[in-house]
This record gives sequence, structure tokens and C-alpha cells, in this order.
Amino acid sequence: MEILFLGTGAGQGVPVIGCHCRHCNVASTDNKSRRLRTLLIVRDGKTTILIDAGPDTRTQILEYDVREIHLVLVTHEHPDHVLGLSEFYYWDKGLSSGTRLCAPMSLLKRLQHLYRPATDVNKLRLFPAPPHKPFREGAFLVVPLRVPHTATSYGYVFTNRGKRLVYLGDCAHLGKDWIHKNGRYLVASDCMVISTPFYAKKTLDHTSVKEAIKLGQRLGIRKTILCHINHYNKTHTELEEAVKGKAVIAYDGMRVGL
Ligand SMILES: [Zn+2]
Ligand SMILES: [Zn+2]
Ligand SMILES: [Zn+2]
Repeated sequence: MEILFLGTGAGQGVPVIGCHCRHCNVASTDNKSRRLRTLLIVRDGKTTILIDAGPDTRTQILEYDVREIHLVLVTHEHPDHVLGLSEFYYWDKGLSSGTRLCAPMSLLKRLQHLYRPATDVNKLRLFPAPPHKPFREGAFLVVPLRVPHTATSYGYVFTNRGKRLVYLGDCAHLGKDWIHKNGRYLVASDCMVISTPFYAKKTLDHTSVKEAIKLGQRLGIRKTILCHINHYNKTHTELEEAVKGKAVIAYDGMRVGL
């Protein structure tokens, strides 16, 4: 399978509107520090899966010439992950009538009201995906996991032709209890992509770069990729230097084959 990062920034993107901090200034000339809101494609040549649909969705889909989407997975209801869903209303050719939108149930209920045109015309078939219940999309087996965050939030585990990828979007520090319940889905995975807006700051709703690296090491994950970076974090080059040998820092346009 291949992962394509269409965006790797946190809620504000980098640079942030009106901000002239050092990171935002660097981002004006450094392509890898300039980040649209986090959005990923996971695909295997036959099946294309989109993860999240933030406010930059239209720009990203056009920029990377994504022509077909078979499954849309949304992690949670925060605006940087859902505001682009209204774009699906206009995608006449890229979606089959069977294209499913999977998300936590609470979010699907809200979307029915918020994005009525997108769902009413059957362009996206709302598909509740309960945690720990695997489902198939082409050659992918997908398992949703609950992750702690300020909104009901999912991570997703993908298995495809013997390779396993774990995607953990916005999530608080994943401690012992969470690992006890979910660790078996992650242990010794080929790759984990995880949202880390801050470098070391401890917050109640996000995992830091340092915590994510420890999690990857603890679970024996072969490759840890960090995304959803914000301007309080280090710049791309500084981050790469700081995590050398322990993790990969995603940048917009990065492709990873598994
Ligand atoms: Zn976010
Ligand atoms: Zn800034
Ligand atoms: Zn969030």
C-alpha cells in the first residue's frame, strides 16, 4: 500500500494567518515547513481511501489529482477534520454510489443535518463503524479504534497484503489503560502515523512528539511518522534533526510505500 500526505498541518495550518513567529516566517520560504491541514490518502492501486476532509480538501484533491475515492474515513468532528466534507456534493465523477463515509456514530448523526446535500443525494453512504469491528474495502481490512480526545475520536488500523498501518489522528497521550485495550491492534505494525502538534508540551487532548516516539518504541512499531504539526512545534528541519533515527516527519506531498 501507499500513503500520500496531502496535508500535514494542525488546525491552523502553517503559516498561521496573521502570525509572524519564527516558524511561520520559515514556512514562507521552506516548502516542508509549510503545511495544509492534515489529510491522507491510503491506496493500493485499486482502492483509494481518504482520511479526514478538512478545510483544504478541495485544494489538496486538485493539487494531487485524486480522481477516485472508494472510502472516506473521518476521525472526529473538529473543523480541521470535517469542514471539507461539503466538497463531496460537487464530486460527480470521483465517487461511486457505494462510496462510504465512516466516522463515529455521534458525528454521522450531526453530519446528516450539517451537510444534508452531501449525504441526501447518496454520494456518500453513511456507514457507522463501531470500534474494534473490522470491515473490508477492496483488499483492505479496516479496524476503527477509539482514541481519547476532546471529541469522540477514532484511529484506524489498515491491513493490506500482509502489511499493517496504524493511523492515530488527534489523540491525548495513550497510556497503560489504552494500550491494554488496544495494543494488540498495533503491536509490531509496519507503520504508525500519529498526530503530534507539539514537541514536548503536555496537553490533555494531544500526544506530543516525544510521547509518540515512546509509544512507537513500546509497541515495537517499525516506522513512526509524525504529522498534524503546528507552528508552536519545531520547524521541519529542526524536527527531523531532533527525531533522527526514531521517527519520520511528514511533509505535504510525501509518499511512503509499505
Ligand atoms: Zn486536528
Ligand atoms: Zn506562527
Ligand atoms: Zn481534534
